[in-house]
Amino acid sequence: MTENQAAADQNREHEEKLPRRRRFSGPALFLAGIAIIMAAAVYFTTVNRAAGEIFTYHHLAMDTGIELALHAASRSEAEAAKAKAFAEMARLEQLLSRSIPASDVNRVNEAAGAAAVRVAPETIAVLEAALKFASLSNGAFDPTISPLLDRWGFLGKQPRVPSETEIKETLLLVDYRQVAVDRAAGTVFLPVAGMGLDLGGIAKGYIVDQALARLADAGIQHACLSAGGDICLLGPRPDGSPWRIGIRHPREAGQLIGVLPLSGGAVVTSGDYERAFTVDGKRYHHILDPATGLPASSLASVTIVALSAMEADALSTAVFVLGPERGLALVESLPGVEAVLVTPDLEVLVSTGLKDKLELR
Ligand code: ADP
Ligand code: MG
Repeated sequence: MTENQAAADQNREHEEKLPRRRRFSGPALFLAGIAIIMAAAVYFTTVNRAAGEIFTYHHLAMDTGIELALHAASRSEAEAAKAKAFAEMARLEQLLSRSIPASDVNRVNEAAGAAAVRVAPETIAVLEAALKFASLSNGAFDPTISPLLDRWGFLGKQPRVPSETEIKETLLLVDYRQVAVDRAAGTVFLPVAGMGLDLGGIAKGYIVDQALARLADAGIQHACLSAGGDICLLGPRPDGSPWRIGIRHPREAGQLIGVLPLSGGAVVTSGDYERAFTVDGKRYHHILDPATGLPASSLASVTIVALSAMEADALSTAVFVLGPERGLALVESLPGVEAVLVTPDLEVLVSTGLKDKLELR
């Protein structure tokens, strides 16, 4: 979020006590969205020094609020570019969302154990990237987590804590190494009935990247696109200065852990404060550790900075599951990837390349 969005996010925090049906991310909160637009409008008028103007848009997609600020020579240029970006988001959501019955992902899941399914090249691209991050993280990130998420009821209205036996049985169906992708034929096959894909930890990042690419195709050179915590930047701000991206405090609504000045690339945060429910005083959230079948608990939030939002999205989920030591080691091993980790007792761990860049609050 930009610094001014912190206040708007406070509203969001209040709404997140109950689980809700989401495709990729936080609930679509219209009021928070309006507040964000207003904050953004005030913010961006102060940075509008280059020729042209900054236009801001709010939009609902992927069950979350989308904030877009772009610099264009005229309103008509801005409107045309914005329309292309949002149309791209809608098109890709139709392929990748598990909440859309006819999506590629659901068609593959329905045919598990029975048949290979022909899918769009974009679906293959995201799935192959997901499998790469699964292998890089030794299965901490696993796009076949779907049956486990269903056991917990995270997609439905009534989540619940499954028994140990249920978790054990379900984990037998979670194994990214069994996914068969035939790139030449354009098909995906899940060999065991009951297996299922869920691209919720990576698809939003991919979609944000593609939407930003459509803005660039339309001639836009400066833009900031945010989809419920996944932020992607096109160039620096119009005056050449870096955008200032706030990292949300995982426990104090409306507060920031720090601010990152960035002139491009992507920033994505995964936190345990997102989609969660409470039973007998214990909170359970939606990022599950495939090793235990339980919500990962060794971090409160993970922010990843990378060149693409897809990479940052997958890695934020992977590092969240891996925990501080293994997570930070993975980040340090990847060129162009940096991270800010917040532990449950609010210790802030920063990767080498961000140590001099992050402005702590
Ligand atoms: P958000 O969608 O809230 O921004 P993330 O990017 O961390 O947060 O993605 C969390 C989503 O990823 C979950 O809602 C679920 O769809 C999926 N997921 C949960 N656990 C895993 C995992 N271990 N590996 C891959 N995907 C996961
Ligand atoms: Mg993610």
